[in-house]
Amino acid sequence: MTTGWEAPRAGYLFTLAVASGEEDDLWTAITSADGGHDLLIALGAQARLMARTATTATGKPFVVPASVWECIACPDVRSFAVAAYAGEEPGELSVSCTRCLREAAEVLARLQLAAMDAARVPLAWLAGVCGQLTSAGGSPVTPLPDPGAAVAP
Ligand SMILES: [Zn+2]
Repeated sequence: MTTGWEAPRAGYLFTLAVASGEEDDLWTAITSADGGHDLLIALGAQARLMARTATTATGKPFVVPASVWECIACPDVRSFAVAAYAGEEPGELSVSCTRCLREAAEVLARLQLAAMDAARVPLAWLAGVCGQLTSAGGSPVTPLPDPGAAVAP
């Protein structure tokens, strides 16, 4: 989970699983590898990227309400998630509270999904990214969605 492309792939897979309510097994598999640190970084970057896409697509800033972060009870995990989304140096992550780690991962995944919704990027795009990352054999493929194309029916 620490060698480049795997965490991003796990992030997209996890977001896709959250969208369909099937994240339980995936969460166990992902976090047994590294405790979730790289996953949160990847999820934060992906949510940030999609928020930019939403901002471009709608012409309005994609705003995250402060209340979104409040369901992450532990302050250190919460600030780690906020920093991961902001693209800032997230500092230390306590891995002692797995409940909050998972809450943080789900918050970031839902942010990405909300941004996708705002940008009218379909779930099929997310599934496509997962497939590409799998078949790319390890190359860091993170294609940007095309808001113009995504809006078309
Ligand atoms: Zn906690």
